Amino acid sequence: MSIKNITVIGSGTMGNGIAHVCAQFGYNVSLVDIAQTALDKAIVTITKYLDRQVQKQTLTEEQKQQTLANIKTFTSVKDCAPSSDLVIEAASENFSIKEKIFKELDEICAPHCILASNTSSISITKIGAVTKRPDKVIGMHFMNPVPVMKLVEVIRGYATSTETNSLVFDVSKNLQKIPVEVNDYPGFVANRILMPMINEAIYTLFENVAGVYEIDTVMKLGMAHPMGPLQLADFIGLDVCLAILRVLHDGFGNPKYAPCPLLVNMVTAGYLGAKSGEGFYKYEAGSKELVVSKMFTK
Ligand code: NAD
Repeated sequence: MSIKNITVIGSGTMGNGIAHVCAQFGYNVSLVDIAQTALDKAIVTITKYLDRQVQKQTLTEEQKQQTLANIKTFTSVKDCAPSSDLVIEAASENFSIKEKIFKELDEICAPHCILASNTSSISITKIGAVTKRPDKVIGMHFMNPVPVMKLVEVIRGYATSTETNSLVFDVSKNLQKIPVEVNDYPGFVANRILMPMINEAIYTLFENVAGVYEIDTVMKLGMAHPMGPLQLADFIGLDVCLAILRVLHDGFGNPKYAPCPLLVNMVTAGYLGAKSGEGFYKYEAGSKELVVSKMFTK
């Protein structure tokens, strides 16, 4: 089976990046969101990214125009998903939202269509089980920012077929990404390892072992991490970090994954990181520029 038409559901942080790379490498992309404003914003973001690629001479003006021409936007999946060969869902990280989307997709998509989710932590087996085609349901976990990051963590649910897995590997390679196959357990590989590190950094702050600047500097200079764990948490979104830690905690029933009370407090108070303007650091409105670390620096 050859894949030509891809529907991307959700045009937020991840969906616009996924639509961008799929369109850049020649797929016909239908980008869907319930909010027209999110679709409009996605096209602006994609255009800005493409402009930067043209400036850096990694893309020609003609390729930029072709990429944009390959993307069509919709506010209903019914208007595009039936002609798709692959759907990549990147809607909000909430099981009931994904359950509803996958049930509908299962009804309206062609029998050959593969249904992938970009979820960070929700079980692919659980998502597959709400459809009548669990063999064609798979995780395609892109990293942020999608046009830059090379990895696609490909998650095989309990019933995902080898054929589905190899088609998703082929698409990922066509997008010039490097797919890595993992099995479906809480947090998969990326977040099972990353989130406990971020949580431990927050505990280190909470227990006053060191300040924000000190913790991030130790990890940057000492471990050669491109950014410290607290700044990374701000960029991922503290609410997203908390949600993933809860999946790990519930899924394994192991207290070592219990989210730090400081993280819980910050999320409850609306300090979500770069997207809300403040987390462990402050950010200029609408930008991800780090201005000054706020409350916890020694
Ligand atoms: P986001 O909040 O930026 O965007 C989600 C978008 O989904 C919104 O525009 C919202 O309007 C839309 N949406 C909600 N319900 C919908 C529906 N029923 N149909 C169509 N659109 C709908 O979220 P995000 O950060 O892009 O995350 C999307 C997915 O990607 C999540 O599952 C998340 O766990 C995963 N993910 C996020 C990151 C990250 O760094 N942000 C990294 C990897 C994976």
